[in-house]
Amino acid sequence: MSTITQLIHSIPVDPQTGAIAVPIYQTSTFVQEAPGVNKGYDYARSNNPTRETAEKIIAGLEGGAGASAFSSGLAAIDAVIKLLKSGDEILAVDDIYGGAFRLFDKVYKKFGIHVNYIDTSDIETVFHAITPATRLIWLETPTNPTLKISDIAAIASIAKANNVLLCVDNTFASPILQQPIALGADLVIHSATKYLGGHSDLIAGVVISKTEQLAQEIKFYQNACGAVLSPFDSFLLIRGIETLPLRIRQHNLNAQQIAEYLAQHPAVDKVFYPGLPSHPGHELAKRQSKGFGGIISFTLKDDSTAAATAFVTSTQYFKLAESLGGIKSLLCHPATMTHKSIPDEKRRAAGVSDSLIRLSVGLEDAADLLADLEQAFSKQPIPEQVSAAV
Ligand SMILES: *Cc1c(COP(=O)(O)O)cnc(C)c1O
Repeated sequence: MSTITQLIHSIPVDPQTGAIAVPIYQTSTFVQEAPGVNKGYDYARSNNPTRETAEKIIAGLEGGAGASAFSSGLAAIDAVIKLLKSGDEILAVDDIYGGAFRLFDKVYKKFGIHVNYIDTSDIETVFHAITPATRLIWLETPTNPTLKISDIAAIASIAKANNVLLCVDNTFASPILQQPIALGADLVIHSATKYLGGHSDLIAGVVISKTEQLAQEIKFYQNACGAVLSPFDSFLLIRGIETLPLRIRQHNLNAQQIAEYLAQHPAVDKVFYPGLPSHPGHELAKRQSKGFGGIISFTLKDDSTAAATAFVTSTQYFKLAESLGGIKSLLCHPATMTHKSIPDEKRRAAGVSDSLIRLSVGLEDAADLLADLEQAFSKQPIPEQVSAAV
């Protein structure tokens, strides 16, 4: 059976009524026949049939033993960190999602969990960074916003040899393109707010575990700490996932065309997209993923905030907003938006230059998106040095 047929038929028909859509069980508790005798549900924080259906579908997509759905991607990350204890150390990708950095730096540091940020795209660096205190390796691949690629299988074997857990934030790739568990990861997390939901209409997160034991531990923290996904949001998430393979296919096609267009544009300096042969992670991305995704970053020859601001305020279909992975194209300027809190020098050293613009390529017609970018380039201010030279 093909993946898409399997996915569509992993969404169950309601056994009670035959409803073809998943019912929203908007209830807080479940009536018991006798104390402890119930139909598998007792209290909706612990378990809810709508949420459970979402969790099973996503565990299937990622090839895990089980999944737990949370009220945000950050709550999902938080549940994984709760597997650790004071004195433990995390090795994390240096180009990490800003919210994960804030959680590690402002919350978990004070509980004695230390994070070492390293360039995980270099396997030697990972190998040498392991210490006796290392308990967890945290990867994003591709990263945000420079789309760096790390070798999941190679890092999984280092993790295994050192009895360290490997968790991959698979938000950018989605399970349609990349399945970290099959490559050796122990845990996968998603901000389901992005591609899994896919319609920019909910905030959600998921943790998928390779083993039943890890799945039970995460489920324990889900119930003990309580940041569960609501029945209605679980329904929205399922509804979004129904079209995930189709959406991802079109995101890929559109993004590849746009990346190629940007790469030859005279106003563009660098393009970061793993689907371009010039990208340092291209071959690896081709090996470990089935496609290159819908996110592109690029910098302007006029590497200034002014030029980037002019660009991001000139597009019509690309809406200026944080977030990504929805049907509508979005763009953002990390230096003044998502990466604003990082000191300028540190930000530039990480490859996020002043003019870097990130695109989340949506599902509009590619020709319309290209025309939109072209008219935004035509509104670029003439750079000072160029006009002086003329
Ligand atoms: C958005 C995002 C998160 C956080 O998810 P929320 O749903 O916003 O809490 C984590 N990781 C990545 C890569 C993201 O893009």
